[in-house]
Amino acid sequence: MTAMKHVGTGLKWMVLGPIAAGLASGAMAVEAFPSKPVTLVVPFSAGGPTDVVARALAQAMSRDLGQSVIVENRLGAGGTVAAAYVARARPDGYTILIHHNGMATAPALYKKLSYSPLKDFEYIGQVADVPMTLLGRKDLPPATTQDLVKYVAQNKDKVSLANAGLGAVSQLCGLLFEEAVHVKLNAIPYQGTGPALTALLGGQVDLLCDQTTSTLPHINANRLRFYGVTTPKRIKALPNAPTLQEGGMKGFEMKVWHGVYAPRGTPPAVTARLTKALQKGLQDPMVAKRLDDLGAEIVPVDKQTPEGLHGWLKTESDKWQPLLRTMKVETD
Ligand code: ASP
Repeated sequence: MTAMKHVGTGLKWMVLGPIAAGLASGAMAVEAFPSKPVTLVVPFSAGGPTDVVARALAQAMSRDLGQSVIVENRLGAGGTVAAAYVARARPDGYTILIHHNGMATAPALYKKLSYSPLKDFEYIGQVADVPMTLLGRKDLPPATTQDLVKYVAQNKDKVSLANAGLGAVSQLCGLLFEEAVHVKLNAIPYQGTGPALTALLGGQVDLLCDQTTSTLPHINANRLRFYGVTTPKRIKALPNAPTLQEGGMKGFEMKVWHGVYAPRGTPPAVTARLTKALQKGLQDPMVAKRLDDLGAEIVPVDKQTPEGLHGWLKTESDKWQPLLRTMKVETD
């Protein structure tokens, strides 16, 4: 009896030994993550609106993670260079991506996309929504949206419209504008709307559609022509500013959303730790204030989750991709 019991216990240990060891090393992996700085890849230039959101988030996440979160700007091809880089990165949680609507639109815009936004990532969570603003250089003649519509119709060959590349939200917003006014404008791509905004402020381009996260200070200082916001309703950060719909652009609606992604195959315990850091970061009063001051709205907590991000990415992909395919704006 005793012997059998002994044997039984021994067998139990033989069976449980590796499992227990596995559990212990899994738990250690979670406890140990992160043991070095995490890189948050931003697909557009430093100082631009995606970068602004990324830096606010990185600081707050690093407080929760106890490690630095380093922002790295990897520019090019409307954000697809950065997304492809993270899709191929080591799936250990140390290289993650922040990206916006471009994750949903890229498959309809790039014939040779090397990754699938819906399959090649682990989904950490959504971050914040940001309205866009339609702007002109300070000395552009039209002062209102109604005047702008007439002006571009009369000057279509001359008017330039800056963007951050195919798949950037500025480009998407520009496409919606061109559709609304039935005019094809002269699109000028930059590697982010940071440099595009500098060009607009310097009078080198005529128009730009960009997020409030970078345009608000310039609008408030009256350094640009400001036509309206792209949301259906007026926004808290610019209560007196008309919407483009109020300016006569029926149905014009554009909002920028952001998500954080890790390469596919990143261990679930690591992605869960990153989701927790994201959620904690977004509760940080300093981040909340910074984003609120710039017109950004932190998404509800149920969206700050893997399911919240993946579900929304699918919804947006289903909405935009057919529309973009009919517009035939694809490239190689
Ligand atoms: N606002 C940019 C875009 O048009 C991106 C950026 O520079 O952050 O997608």
